Amino acid sequence: MTMMQCPTTSLRAVPPALTVKPRLLRHLTLILLLILCMLGVGYLGYHLSEKSGIRQLRDNGERQLELHARAVESEINRYTYLPSLLELESSVSHLLLHPTPYRRNLVNDYLEGLNRRSGARATFLLDTEGRVLATSNWREADSFLGEDLAFRAYFQDAVQGRPGRFYGIGSTTGEAGYYLAHGLRYQGRIIGVAVVKVKLEALQERWEKARLQAFVSDENGIIILSSDPALRMKAVRPLSADDKERLARSLQYYWWALNEWEPRSRESLGEGLEAISFASHGPDGQDQDDIAYLAQTRPLAGTPWHFTLLSPLADLRREAIIQGMLAAVGLALLAFLLIAWNERRKVIATRLAAREALLAANNELERKIAERTADLRASNHRLLEEIRERKQTEENLRKAQDGLVQAGKLAVIGQMSTSIAHELNQPLAALRTLSGNTVRFLARGALDTASTNLAAINELVDRMGRITASLRAFARRSDDHGQARLGKAVDAALFLLSTRLERTALTLHRDFADVLLAIDQTRLEQILVNLIANALDAMSGQDDCQLWLAGRVDGSTYRLQVRDNGPGIDPANREHLFEPFFTTKPGEHGLGLGLTLSASLATAAGGSLAAHHPEGGGTAFELCLPLLENPGSPAP
Ligand code: ADP
Repeated sequence: MTMMQCPTTSLRAVPPALTVKPRLLRHLTLILLLILCMLGVGYLGYHLSEKSGIRQLRDNGERQLELHARAVESEINRYTYLPSLLELESSVSHLLLHPTPYRRNLVNDYLEGLNRRSGARATFLLDTEGRVLATSNWREADSFLGEDLAFRAYFQDAVQGRPGRFYGIGSTTGEAGYYLAHGLRYQGRIIGVAVVKVKLEALQERWEKARLQAFVSDENGIIILSSDPALRMKAVRPLSADDKERLARSLQYYWWALNEWEPRSRESLGEGLEAISFASHGPDGQDQDDIAYLAQTRPLAGTPWHFTLLSPLADLRREAIIQGMLAAVGLALLAFLLIAWNERRKVIATRLAAREALLAANNELERKIAERTADLRASNHRLLEEIRERKQTEENLRKAQDGLVQAGKLAVIGQMSTSIAHELNQPLAALRTLSGNTVRFLARGALDTASTNLAAINELVDRMGRITASLRAFARRSDDHGQARLGKAVDAALFLLSTRLERTALTLHRDFADVLLAIDQTRLEQILVNLIANALDAMSGQDDCQLWLAGRVDGSTYRLQVRDNGPGIDPANREHLFEPFFTTKPGEHGLGLGLTLSASLATAAGGSLAAHHPEGGGTAFELCLPLLENPGSPAP
């Protein structure tokens, strides 16, 4: 039966070396892609968050800008009307028209009082030449009195009838201030200029207190007011060399070095909106991270100035960075979830495929098993059929064999009957002679001789009885369950053949034990008769006739060899010896059943009969029969 093989090849894993490399490459590409996506999404998140933050900051800033710009405007406008008020004061026009020390003192006092009440830094009066005629600070050491301020732009504007507005650093005090000038008219003619100097530093303090980062830049782009002192007197836009020269000469900013402010970066985000970053300096003066601001600028009404509000972008940027990171992490999480889901899906698919493969293999196996079972059933059926046929044949054969045995027996009986008739005739003739003699001896009164004759008659009758008994037994068909004494059987056989033996000069060699064998006595005698008769037949033409009857124990059997020194058997005939009706004897002499029957009887008793052809010539038949008991004494 062939072994059933599982389809192992289909389930065998692909060698790892072939799969690892592309998979690793794919994983690396995936990781790289993921990192790129994370960076992209992170940046996008950052950018969007920053944008929206800036929008929010701008909206908030716009409100603040408006509020504080208006505060600056109102602070400036508070004094706008003040110089023009002096036109109403007659002592002022008198002094301008006809200056006298008395009038000057009068106006000085007036201006001092006015200045105190208005809260301005200084209030003073210039003639059309630009010389200070009277001032509120006439008592102080750094009084403007007598100073020539004709070079000041606010004077030049005011003397021509335009409102003079000017922010500058006082040439006497070196103090920054906002100058508001007004041309004073008398009968339509400008006779002098009234100037009010206002200090705007209070605004800066207010911004500082409100933690507001703001500055005001003037028409030249110079920061004149700033919550951060570092920014003051810095130019918000680049100044050309000419500009610098011009401004230096005007002494507007006194002797301040006018530097441009140097933001690290500057990005315009729209009208009046910029993102600016400065290098910040730590306490030890070392450069630290940049500080970024959103700068919102609007013009201040009534002045050529601009108000700028700075809103720090650091918080917003930090928030944008966090948002960007969150977006990236979110994406990574999503990607991992997707990958996990995909892996799970793959695992499930693999499992399903494996299960399907298993199912298919199982089905295939079952199909094969069914096929094989069907084959087996068919061959089983065939075998049964064959067994039945064999049994039938065996039965037929057995019947034929039985018939043959029976026929053989009958034939032997037929054959034997002639010799038996002959055998019986001899004792009968002897009986007749003996009985005749006995009658005569009795008549003579020779009783001893008569009784001897009667004993001989008895002997002869016994012998005849034995002959008929063996005939009867021979004809009987039955299994052999008898027992036989070998010595007795040999004697009986020799007795049956005694007539022939008497005619032959035979030397008999007896070398066997008187064992008890598991065979019917008569059957054993018959076998021996056959074997000895054959030997006698074979040796019939020769002078020296030798017959050996040699026996030996072989385990639980006894082997008796009947050997003669006859001519032996022609090799061509050897294989036919035990075939029924095989004979080499001419005419009525042979039936060819002797060996067949003998072998059949031996086999029926559980023994065997075989022919040997000794080197030294002659023939030996070995009769093997089961022993019933161990050999006792040697045969007589
Ligand atoms: P039959 O004696 O009637 O021929 P058997 O079956 O007894 O039949 O013997 C068959 C033949 O075997 C004999 O014809 C003879 O040729 C041969 N045979 C048997 N025994 C001997 C023997 N001892 N020596 C030589 N030939 C033998």
